[in-house]
Amino acid sequence: MQRGLHPEPHGCRSPFLIRRLASEPATLVRIETAERLGIAPRRLDGWEPAETTTYEHDGDGRLVRSVTVREPEWSEQDRAWMAALAAHRSGRCPSCGGDAAVCCAPDGDGAFVVPPPTRCHVTTALAVAQAQYQDSPQPQALLWHVERR
Ligand SMILES: [Zn+2]
Repeated sequence: MQRGLHPEPHGCRSPFLIRRLASEPATLVRIETAERLGIAPRRLDGWEPAETTTYEHDGDGRLVRSVTVREPEWSEQDRAWMAALAAHRSGRCPSCGGDAAVCCAPDGDGAFVVPPPTRCHVTTALAVAQAQYQDSPQPQALLWHVERR
């Protein structure tokens, strides 16, 4: 099969990175955190751009000018992570957030079951308490918190 006949999602050239985002929750959290902060993933890891300053002097040794060049923040790898994140998201189901290739597969009807739910006892206690105040003035203005007995 020739390359280019099956374009990767969003033009991402790193299917390996997309697979890592899908299979490594900590990696997904790392890349999404960098995105949320607007910084390169490597900067999230502590990397700082190198700066190089060159000085130009006149014939008497006086400084004429200095030029500082800073290494670009976004490396090719950082850009690849962001492209992989976009591709990862484009493959998610808008309903359940899972892998759309799995949950929306044409042969997936009947392939999934829902086990009995787990009850959140904090939410239960909060709902019971809030029901007692539903007829009070402006119940939406009440501030709630839950404590353990
Ligand atoms: Zn789904």
